[in-house]
Amino acid sequence: MPEIEALKLIGSTPMLHLKTLDPKPGVEIHAKLEFLNPTGSYKDRIIAYIVQKSIESGKITDNTTIVEGSSGNTGASVAMVASSMGLKSKIFVPDKCSDEKAAIIRSYGAEVTVIDAPESYEAAAAQKGKEDENYYHIDQYNNPLNPEAHYMTIGKEIWEDMNGEIDAFVATASTGGAISGIARRLKENDPGIRITLADPEGSIYKPYFEGKEDYMSYKKPFKVEGAGKAAIVDAMNFDILDDAISFNDENAIEMAHRLARQEGLMVGGSSGGNVWAALEIAKRMKGPAKIVTVLPDSGFKYMSKVFNPKWLDEIGLGHLVAK
Ligand code: PMP
Repeated sequence: MPEIEALKLIGSTPMLHLKTLDPKPGVEIHAKLEFLNPTGSYKDRIIAYIVQKSIESGKITDNTTIVEGSSGNTGASVAMVASSMGLKSKIFVPDKCSDEKAAIIRSYGAEVTVIDAPESYEAAAAQKGKEDENYYHIDQYNNPLNPEAHYMTIGKEIWEDMNGEIDAFVATASTGGAISGIARRLKENDPGIRITLADPEGSIYKPYFEGKEDYMSYKKPFKVEGAGKAAIVDAMNFDILDDAISFNDENAIEMAHRLARQEGLMVGGSSGGNVWAALEIAKRMKGPAKIVTVLPDSGFKYMSKVFNPKWLDEIGLGHLVAK
């Protein structure tokens, strides 16, 4: 199968000390700039890894169409990796997916189908993979290669970037692949590293982790894309978490704006949530500490939402607009 040079640009992203956010002397927040991956998110890592492994095992051949349900980022990565290897791809997206994200997926060469019912886009992809043997379903929510990709790539890089000096790691979860894989690598190297889930209000992950029997009743709509979940999925390893912090849309979106203005980093809402939660952890630290998080995707994917004054007004966050 042909392989283009751009695939080599996946991973090895920079780690940056967010100095303007340090809450007190000696307490540092460091972030892995995952929006610098070719399609603008860390999902490039898992798709390159899963496709490579599936070619090796014979599950993907020259005639395969790769299919996935995605809120946007994974779809872009599937489309880019598939096209670059001469393969076709088909992506089902929820209507919550921003217009730019759907356009990006199409531009990389995938066929895009928008599904109205919020939880049905993944089922539509699964169905396609099941009914037609020429389709390979990535199945990021259940595929063990998803957390494995993060363990093998970004988890290893974070440890090396920080020279092993990490006190805490915090991140949101949707498939759970990133936090589960990264945390496994970090805990293997130093079991003392504290792992915190940052969860949007309205996701059921934090109440589930905390053992709430009625965890499903915590489900409600929220605006931040890519983070949180309304169901428990296989790729998410709750056993590796030490604690969980919740954030709301305003916390995350305000922080995304601060990161653009203060640190020069144009990132999406989940990055805002991650850094907001990192700052909460930082405030609780007694002595010097290094807290690490990730900036999963680019803010350029959200010009019609997070960085659009009209949309912010519509959701009651008009006061965040730069005057
Ligand atoms: N942030 C963004 C922007 C995402 O697209 C995703 C993946 N849906 C996540 C965070 C969460 O990553 P994971 O699926 O590995 O838990």
